[in-house]
Amino acid sequence: MLSATDQQGQQRATGLADLHMHTTYSDGVGTVEETLAYIQWRTALDVIAITDHDTIEGALRARDLAERQSFPFEVIVGEEVSTREGHVLTLFLEKRIPPGLSIERTIEMAHAQGGLAIIAHPFNPVFRHSVQRPVVDRLLRQPDLHPDGIETLNGSFAGIGSSRVAQELTRTIYHWAETGGSDAHTPSAIGCAMTRYPGFGVEALRQAVLQRATSAEGSYWRPREYVTYVSHTLAYGVAATHEPTTLSPSALARARRATFGRLAQRRVAMLIESLDVTGVGIR
Ligand SMILES: [Zn+2]
Ligand SMILES: [Zn+2]
Repeated sequence: MLSATDQQGQQRATGLADLHMHTTYSDGVGTVEETLAYIQWRTALDVIAITDHDTIEGALRARDLAERQSFPFEVIVGEEVSTREGHVLTLFLEKRIPPGLSIERTIEMAHAQGGLAIIAHPFNPVFRHSVQRPVVDRLLRQPDLHPDGIETLNGSFAGIGSSRVAQELTRTIYHWAETGGSDAHTPSAIGCAMTRYPGFGVEALRQAVLQRATSAEGSYWRPREYVTYVSHTLAYGVAATHEPTTLSPSALARARRATFGRLAQRRVAMLIESLDVTGVGIR
């Protein structure tokens, strides 16, 4: 039996990472500064990856800030790339990977710059950015060109139901590293889903993914995160989901007030009901 010290030692022997989150550099609600402050004060994460849609600008800014300040966590520069076949998380980037390429080319470009590629929220039958089985099976048949991991727990609506499928297929068929990511679009959702790995720091995490020694744990966004995200999307428009906005902060505030009227609030309530977010939680 382990002594108390050994048990503590054992707990300290693993790190926790959230490898999927968005900021205002794509369709997230929180700025890079707000995101980092939330992680510092409200989570126990050792490593985070900023993975905005099709840009690394926010992630580079986060890494710069982390280099100048002493945060208790490390920052990975990532990008959630919109490939032709769905979203792929790419980590440890120095250069942006353009959207609209095949999933194979995207994985190749991540590996060419020393990065990792993880399939985000796969197998969701209704989410159009979700990579589907025929594509993942195709990757399995190309041993020289495979992703390093699969997100087997995604904290957003995209992961509800399909996370369980991803976990089962990864354990029985694909055998790539299992990762968990909040896919947070609001700071308060950060850390709801996480990746546990042996050791600490970004290098240990990278090795753990390569050795397929990671595991996913956690749950999903809470109702208030849906309210914040949906109202943000309504106010900023569909364009906010993929392009940084060019409106000034005051124009954005006016747009938000104008859009988020009674009708919009009713749509938010209906969406939340349809998602049945109170009934989720897989482990
Ligand atoms: Zn996505
Ligand atoms: Zn995402």
